[in-house]
Order: sequence, then C-alpha cells, then structure tokens
Amino acid sequence: MAPVSRREGMARLTRVAVPAENAGAGLMPPLRPASRRPSEGSGAAGAGAPGAGGPGTSGPGTSGPGAGKALQPHTGVARLTPKAAAVEEAARSLRQVMGRFATGVTVVTTTSRGRIHGMTANAFLSVSLRPPLVLISLGRCRMNEMLPRTGRYGISVLSRQQKDFAGHFAAQRPAPTEPRFVWEREIPLLEGALAHLVCRVVDAHPAGDHVLWIGEVEYLNAHEGEPLLFFTGRFGTLREVQQRGG
Ligand SMILES: Cc1cc2nc3c(=O)[nH]c(=O)nc-3n(C[C@H](O)[C@H](O)[C@H](O)COP(=O)(O)OP(=O)(O)OC[C@H]3O[C@@H](n4cnc5c(N)ncnc54)[C@H](O)[C@@H]3O)c2cc1C
Repeated sequence: MAPVSRREGMARLTRVAVPAENAGAGLMPPLRPASRRPSEGSGAAGAGAPGAGGPGTSGPGTSGPGAGKALQPHTGVARLTPKAAAVEEAARSLRQVMGRFATGVTVVTTTSRGRIHGMTANAFLSVSLRPPLVLISLGRCRMNEMLPRTGRYGISVLSRQQKDFAGHFAAQRPAPTEPRFVWEREIPLLEGALAHLVCRVVDAHPAGDHVLWIGEVEYLNAHEGEPLLFFTGRFGTLREVQQRGG
C-alpha cells in the first residue's frame, strides 16, 4: 500500500516501570493444549476483551467460567451446575452487548527464538500521551505466555482489505495468502496495515480472565486507508456489517 500521508516517529522513552522480562510473568496458569480452541472461530459478537473469543477461556480445569463444569460419571456428558450456568449466561450476555461496540481490528505480533507469532485482537486502546502508552487485553492465549518472555509487541491496525488476516490470526480459517511481515525495532508487523506501533511492556495487570498489557510506544507509523471493522461478530466496513444484519 502506498503511503499517502505518513506520520512516523520515535516515542521518547521514559523510565521503565516494570522490567519487561518479568512483566506479567505468572499472571495466568500455563496454556493447556487440550483446552485450546473451543470458542475460537466463533467470531461471535463481542470477540474482544472481555471474553475475547480467546481460546480456552472456558477450558476445563481453569479458574475461568468453565471451572464449575461437572462431568456425569455414567454418560460422560458435561453439565453445568446452576452457578456455572449463571456465570456462562452472564458471560454470553456481556459478549453480546460488547459486540454492539464497533471496533477496529489489530494483529498483535511478537517474536521469540527466531519465530514470529501473531494473533487478532480488538481489545486495544490508547492509555496516555505523555508518556505514550497503549494497552492490549489478552485472555488465555499463546501470546499471553510469550509476552513475559519477549517483553515487546507490535500492533498492526488492519485495513478493509486485510479481512482474511483477521480470521487467520484468530485461528478461524487460514488466509488464502501467506501473511508477510515488515520489521521495525526488531519487531515484526503485518505488511500493508493502516497503522503500526511497536511497544515495550512496562506494566501488566491481571483482570478477571484477562491480562492488561500496558506498552510504551517505541515506534509508530500510519497510512491513509479504510479500516476493517468488527461489529456484532462480523468483519467489514460499517456499511457491510450493517447490511448483513448487524
Ligand atoms: C475480532 C476478534 C477480536 C479478538 N480480540 C481478542 C482480544 O482482544 N484479546 C484476546 O485475548 N483474544 C482476542 N480474540 C481471540 C484471539 O484472536 C484468538 O483466541 C487467537 O487464536 C489467540 O491466538 P494465540 O496467541 O493463542 O495463538 P494461536 O491461536 O496459536 O495463533 C493464532 C493464529 O495465527 C496464526 N499465526 C500465528 N503466527 C503466525 C505466523 N508467523 N505466520 C502465519 N500465521 C501465524 C496461527 O497459525 C493461528 O491460526 C479476538 C478474536 C477476534 C475474531
């Protein structure tokens, strides 16, 4: 994408509040492969924090909403206790209501041991201008395990043309083309995005079944273009998501 107008700059560094290597360490129990993917692909209404459609947020053996599941000894059919059912119902309602809050879509990226990892997130917001701070809210996911180690992340704000990547990095369906990355400050960023930020983790706060990762902006850059929106579980332009019955 040809940059029409471009702002680029290095955010001035301020003192690190928390050593990046330790920020968020041990905030969540480790991800269990068996508990992954029950809700991904839902793209369900409100797939952002809270209940960002993150994998395993209701997985077995966790302290999350699914923790109250009781397994029937004879049939093996999982049944929710009344309390757990109420928790699930509240979570569903919150997800549905939050789905009415139209957002942009980002891909959060980081790199570890020479490998790039990306995930879709819409729980992204700006926190402070001086110093420049942003926040991402992550549920139980691979990225949450990596950030204490990598201490830095990239944000790529998706354009309308990048809808396939929104689904791809939410593990919903593979994109027809391989994602390509550009590098800034040794952090990978999705090529062709509307905006890029590189952040260093300065603080992390557990909040319910999510962790709020506060990052100080080290690099940013933006292009003109039309954003990809997420509304009531659908991706598209505002007109598209409305036409499809949002
Ligand atoms: C609109 C929307 C918004 C969401 N917002 C949030 C949110 O704010 N917070 C939250 O916690 N969850 C959110 N989710 C859910 C989240 O995107 C998924 O749960 C995601 O699968 C979590 O990723 P992960 O780190 O566990 O990695 P994985 O699920 O392992 O990876 C995600 C996908 O990206 C692919 N991928 C990763 N790295 C690469 C690479 N280098 N090259 C090619 N493909 C790669 C993987 O193959 C996989 O398909 C959202 C989902 C949607 C649809």
